[in-house]
Amino acid sequence: MNQIKIGNFIAARRKAHGMTQSQLAEKLGITDKAVSKWETGKSMPDLSLFNPLCDLLEITLNELLLGEFISEDNLKEKSNQVLFEVITSWLGKDQWEYPTQFNNPHNVLKLQNLKKVYNTENTSTLAVNNVSLEVSKGSFIGIMGASGSGKSTLLNMIATIDKATSGIIEISGQNIAEISDEDLSAFRREHLGFIFQEYNLLDTLTIYENIALALTIKQSPKERVKHTIYELAEKLEISDVLSKFPYEVSGGQRQRCACARAIAVNPSLILADEPTGALDSHSAKQLLETLVMFRRDYSAKILMVTHDAFSASYCDKILFMQDGEIKAVLDREEENKHTFFANILDVMARLTEGGPYVL
Ligand code: ADP
Ligand code: MG
Repeated sequence: MNQIKIGNFIAARRKAHGMTQSQLAEKLGITDKAVSKWETGKSMPDLSLFNPLCDLLEITLNELLLGEFISEDNLKEKSNQVLFEVITSWLGKDQWEYPTQFNNPHNVLKLQNLKKVYNTENTSTLAVNNVSLEVSKGSFIGIMGASGSGKSTLLNMIATIDKATSGIIEISGQNIAEISDEDLSAFRREHLGFIFQEYNLLDTLTIYENIALALTIKQSPKERVKHTIYELAEKLEISDVLSKFPYEVSGGQRQRCACARAIAVNPSLILADEPTGALDSHSAKQLLETLVMFRRDYSAKILMVTHDAFSASYCDKILFMQDGEIKAVLDREEENKHTFFANILDVMARLTEGGPYVL
């Protein structure tokens, strides 16, 4: 990666758009000095500024990182070359270890009387009603419920995407309502991993780079990044697609890439909203086995929303939601998956009939 070349390119593009350094700085909400440093090759823009900068200069991310325009003909070759180099040369050199899971005395997640009311013009919906919950040790928890029962609302509040109307959410002992809006994205990066139905992978990055990006943002040392990615890729059986782009691989492989990205940064909690929703049954099974492996081998704590009993049967504990409330809790004892599956169906049937619920 040639910083001087990139600097010259930024300067040229800025001038082509008739902007001064201060005008560009103002648009990006940074100091003039920062822009001047980029343009003289003394520093690189912060990762969070890549996309806005590319938009303003009307260039692609690949072009920014290469420091020149890329023609359609050699787009793929150039982007592969550039991005691989960028991602692997970006990081520092210190050893980076998985922090131990055991030195935090706090619950990973604690919910107390959580409530969410959506007020629209003439209706008010009680989407989540008085939910309390504690997740302390490595566990894979499922939230089940029919469509509209409040599952996503609950997950989005925990994900700090949506704010609670009342009640308390603590993640690793921290009351998330007390975190300022500016600090929230850093908090999410530090503590949460996300796996959603839509894959949320960046199309312009390869599978390798998508996973690496999460580690880069978290400032993991370079040596560690490569090692972590290869190790995870092997476990998730995506080693031979690491250099491909998301559109070149199957839905199952994309989703396993999202899993690798979520676990790679060793988050306090992994949140998954209908992660198997868009997968065929074979890929769904593989994904669920991946989550079980994360829980076993990486002590991951996972909260997964699903409306499907088969997916839920992989969990250790299931909370059944109806009309925004947790109506039943089912713990997996020593029984095998089939028995657990039968028990899940049983609770679901009781819920539809209106109780009583055996807890
Ligand atoms: P689930 O994920 O279980 O299908 P949701 O959490 O999406 O359920 O929705 C719970 C209830 O809250 C539903 O009645 C839904 O219509 C309502 N709801 C969800 N999001 C909003 C919103 N942004 N504004 C208004 N109502 C909403
Ligand atoms: Mg939902």
